Amino acid sequence: MRYEVETGVGKPLVREARARCVIGADGARSRVARQCVPGADKMPCVSAYHEIVRSPKDGENGFQADRCDVYYQGKISPDFYGWVFPHGDTTSVGVGTEVAGFSLREATRELRKAAGLEHAETLRREGAPIPLRPLDCWDDGRNVVLAGDAAGVVAPASGEGIYYALAGGRYAAEAAEAFCTTGKVSSLKLARKGFMKAHGRVFWILGIMQRFWYCSDKRRERFVKMCADPDVQRLTWEAYMNKRLVKSQPGAHLKIFFKDLGHLFGIVSAK
Ligand SMILES: Cc1cc2nc3c(=O)[nH]c(=O)nc-3n(C[C@H](O)[C@H](O)[C@H](O)COP(=O)(O)OP(=O)(O)OC[C@H]3O[C@@H](n4cnc5c(N)ncnc54)[C@H](O)[C@@H]3O)c2cc1C
Repeated sequence: MRYEVETGVGKPLVREARARCVIGADGARSRVARQCVPGADKMPCVSAYHEIVRSPKDGENGFQADRCDVYYQGKISPDFYGWVFPHGDTTSVGVGTEVAGFSLREATRELRKAAGLEHAETLRREGAPIPLRPLDCWDDGRNVVLAGDAAGVVAPASGEGIYYALAGGRYAAEAAEAFCTTGKVSSLKLARKGFMKAHGRVFWILGIMQRFWYCSDKRRERFVKMCADPDVQRLTWEAYMNKRLVKSQPGAHLKIFFKDLGHLFGIVSAK
């Protein structure tokens, strides 16, 4: 296989290597995926941009070092959200959107103003695509299998990709091992199969949520109101921490279902 190595300086180096199997884990614009897996070049993405700023002291200008803020506002993002995530000495302030032409930098400026981080020292600016949904196929039917952003495994609605890149990496490694042991190319399919069995349903639900709740300020307001509900918070937190849907509390699910319907049809006030 011929591949290009990004060194961060000048043109990529072109190398050749021989391997029985290749795991393409080279990010959302994966060259391995585009070179080997049909359809990978058409992966839909959200554009994300963030600025890494020096964190103010805890309590300074309203800043809370142990609190993550998520902004659902059309002017910050017309179809995704903006965030303020403190990471100790530094804080990530950013936004994502699928809308072409929307100024991510301008929205981040607004967000920094709203969060009281307008004058915080900017250490870094970074922009990159975030995949919107898993690819339908993660292998080339010969000896290549994808993992992480290259396979499109970022949770819709939240944009959480780190956990799923790690989880997908494990499934890809297991599939590669099975392929190298048995020589059966069908083993490569085990990566997507295993991942989707474990996380497919969560991705599906989050995808519906994103499409429904993130599309207008009116719906975003209802969504935020709904998220204030302690049952929703508890189940969401448990699902987030354990990476699976909570099955043991049918009463709470039922309550949420009816509240959800109430919000959906505007019976429950958004104010
Ligand atoms: C602005 C922004 C904020 C985000 N915030 C969060 C968050 O708060 N929480 C969360 O869970 N997720 C977040 N994500 C998503 C998360 O960063 C990704 O889903 C995750 O990093 C995917 O991991 P990965 O290993 O698949 O890809 P990457 O992290 O992109 O790693 C791919 C690696 O491959 C290397 N590479 C690519 N091509 C070549 C080449 N030709 N030669 C050599 N090396 C190459 C790259 O340099 C890189 O090191 C965010 C994404 C963005 C853009």
